[in-house]
Amino acid sequence: MLLTPGPTPVPEFVRKAMADVTIHHRTEEFEAIFKNTRELLLETFNMPEVVMLASSGTGAMEACVTNLTHKKALTINSGKFGERFGKICAAFKIDYTEIKNEWNTPVSVEAVVDAVKNDESIDAIFIQICESAGGLRHPVEQIAAEVKKINKNITIVADGITAIGVEKIDTTHLDAVITGSQKALMLPPGLAMIGLSNDAVAKIESHAKGYYFNLATEIKKQRTNTTAWTAATTLIIGLGAILEKIKEDGFDNLYAKTALRAKATQEALKAIGMEIYPKTPAKAMTTIYTEQSSAIRKILKNKFNVNIAGGQDHLAGKIFRINHMGLVEDFEASWAVNAIELALDELGVRAFDGTANKIFAQTMFKGE
Ligand SMILES: *Cc1c(COP(=O)(O)O)cnc(C)c1O
Repeated sequence: MLLTPGPTPVPEFVRKAMADVTIHHRTEEFEAIFKNTRELLLETFNMPEVVMLASSGTGAMEACVTNLTHKKALTINSGKFGERFGKICAAFKIDYTEIKNEWNTPVSVEAVVDAVKNDESIDAIFIQICESAGGLRHPVEQIAAEVKKINKNITIVADGITAIGVEKIDTTHLDAVITGSQKALMLPPGLAMIGLSNDAVAKIESHAKGYYFNLATEIKKQRTNTTAWTAATTLIIGLGAILEKIKEDGFDNLYAKTALRAKATQEALKAIGMEIYPKTPAKAMTTIYTEQSSAIRKILKNKFNVNIAGGQDHLAGKIFRINHMGLVEDFEASWAVNAIELALDELGVRAFDGTANKIFAQTMFKGE
């Protein structure tokens, strides 16, 4: 059972949709498929423009940094993915400043407002919606609204790789929202997507940059239902299939189920004495702080066939993360909390009495 916060399992109907013969990307047949996927994506992002790139999510992060910073970037670092925005700036010798916090701590709206007020050269802000390193939710929408009051020309770029397909995002004040294929969208890795505002498109077109990741070139091509370079045809077919299914079931139903599953998992684990790591937990995953992280994960994998993620860098061996993104079955999430309670029993931490499963079921199905 794969319950890591990316990659997530690919549903059978998506695997089947991607199993057909490879078609040429410069054909009317593929353009029709591209158009359908593109329209579904525009709806998913709820933004006026979108581009798909053949790359992992980091490629889209790089494309946004290079195409949307014309003067200086402000990057928000509360974890490995926020740190990455700064590393991209450094790699391209783009001027940047960073607000750094511990991995359980979201950036405050005031800290961003102060940074912007104190440095007029900042023209773009890069932030995660959910910082997956510690599973925290940043107050992105509030930050964007406040920053736009100060200067509406500051571009807000939100990494929504573990937020798009997880919860409804208010994109009113966002200029670019990034996502990738292998998290909430339940596809194999290799496709990145960026939703764009009209202001972001104008900024990109005013000063086209780069070659492979030149977003001006891509926007122009993708508006005609093709791509600048060879399209990731198989993944675009798969993306169309998954978005059609999510739309049919209702986006709001997916968001509501994910939120409830996250809540039920967190209540269940709290009830058996586990500590939620982030101060503002995101809905994409549950992150638990425990010195027993490695031992718990080992028992889960070897004895109960549950794969969950650990932590990186200074949090290696100190946290574990359970995925809630995608079409996770209720019985999978319920089995995961059960297995954790059994692991705690085996480690002599807490005697098993079925509390985790009970609280999970009560929260998930009884609305308690
Ligand atoms: C997974 C992830 C990424 C991108 O990682 P890739 O491995 O390049 O796809 C970026 N940001 C967040 C928040 C993520 O969870």
